[in-house]
Amino acid sequence: MIAQTKPSPQAAAAAPAARERRPAAIQAVRGMNDVLPDEAGLWEHFEDAAREVFGQYGYRNLRVPVVEATPLFVRAIGQVTDVVEHEMYTFDDRLNGESLTLRPEATAGIVRAAIEHNLTYERPQRVWTAGPMFRHERPQKGRYRQFHQFDVEALGFAGPDVDAEQIVMLARLWRRLGLDGIRLEINSIGDPDERRAHRAALIAHFERHRELFNEDEQRRLYANPLRILDSKNPALQPAIAAAPRLVDSLSDPARTHFDGLQQLLAGHGVAFTINPRLVRGLDYYNRTVFEWVTERLGAQGTVAGGGRYDGLFEQLGGKPTPACGFAIGCERMVLLMQDSGVVPAAVPEAYIVHVGEQAGKFAATVAENLRDAGLSVVVNAGGGSFKTQMKRADASGARFALIVGEDEAAANRVAVKPLRSAGEQVTLAPGELAARLAAQGEDSGAR
Ligand code: ATP
Ligand code: MG
Repeated sequence: MIAQTKPSPQAAAAAPAARERRPAAIQAVRGMNDVLPDEAGLWEHFEDAAREVFGQYGYRNLRVPVVEATPLFVRAIGQVTDVVEHEMYTFDDRLNGESLTLRPEATAGIVRAAIEHNLTYERPQRVWTAGPMFRHERPQKGRYRQFHQFDVEALGFAGPDVDAEQIVMLARLWRRLGLDGIRLEINSIGDPDERRAHRAALIAHFERHRELFNEDEQRRLYANPLRILDSKNPALQPAIAAAPRLVDSLSDPARTHFDGLQQLLAGHGVAFTINPRLVRGLDYYNRTVFEWVTERLGAQGTVAGGGRYDGLFEQLGGKPTPACGFAIGCERMVLLMQDSGVVPAAVPEAYIVHVGEQAGKFAATVAENLRDAGLSVVVNAGGGSFKTQMKRADASGARFALIVGEDEAAANRVAVKPLRSAGEQVTLAPGELAARLAAQGEDSGAR
């Protein structure tokens, strides 16, 4: 071909040979996001607060695998649910062909672990876990294919005191993070007997509206009519609003439980509304269900949801064990924190600017000593003039630049320049630095 002997002017003007050989860049999988350092501070701020508040109530960490046997989720969540029918990442183990699934939620794995290790044999357990979950949904703001949850479970407690405890604990977490405008909705979906009766009433009701059904709803009418209550199909909303409400026909024990929960919440001053349509997307719930909802995130407004699942242990082959739990959606929390202007203070206290060989060694020692004193210090790396390094110090967000040239190194002194407040530059001995940074930090913080 001509181009082999005589490159076209365009090709000759294009990138050098090395660049032509560079392979196409690989991108992250759709719906699975990187959290970059500028945003990760908010994540850590949320995670630290959650761990601390859960710890205050006696919840301890339990870590379970990301991959579980597929039947665990089918049995726990329910065959006829969005998650199991459409959203699971399921694959066969390449050696033995066992069907495995990336966890779409954490409760099933926690209950499996509790049964496997006989965790509630001697006493009930309060536990939490955190990490990525996977659901093959259509990605949009607040809805992703890999997302993260903080998941809390109280295993072996019949409630309603522990149901209330978990809700009150979440209210504390929101306060701790400075978040407001998150409303609480609660409902009771009763016990198996009234659920059977309600199911029959629902089928009878929805049979009169079949012409409005989409394919999923057709199939669910007899398999799992409760799921139709969570349908987002706009045409069906009036029929859903008119459907028989389980909360009106609760058995006495379920009614007493629900009344008890409401009294406890009122006693703690936690405001709530009863939403008789609240059923939640997973089949294992009974009695209490709840969601914390905000109007600030558009359609994906539920930041946390949970409830009681007294039948799940038996359903998974364990002994009858009442339990209650919830999960917080971390991405939605971070979006809400951004919207609320929550700014974590995750910047270094000082950035050390140094020019010259002796100054470099001196700077490294000064930084280590300040870290011994508990301060966070970034040492300039990669050289540069004083001017260049001062620009980097400013961009780092540090409150102070510590400046060392050959003269300072020889005299065993460090210049301290405030970057975020109007204070004077001073020159100190290394031993005086930690106290001065801490004191000046308080000054500028109070301003
Ligand atoms: P939704 O109605 O928004 O689909 P869900 O009822 O499916 O939520 P749960 O299974 O109860 O959600 O999970 C608890 C929390 O996890 C949700 O309230 C939400 O904050 C978060 N969450 C669920 N699915 C996703 C997702 N695909 N992307 C981001 N966060 C999610
Ligand atoms: Mg969902």
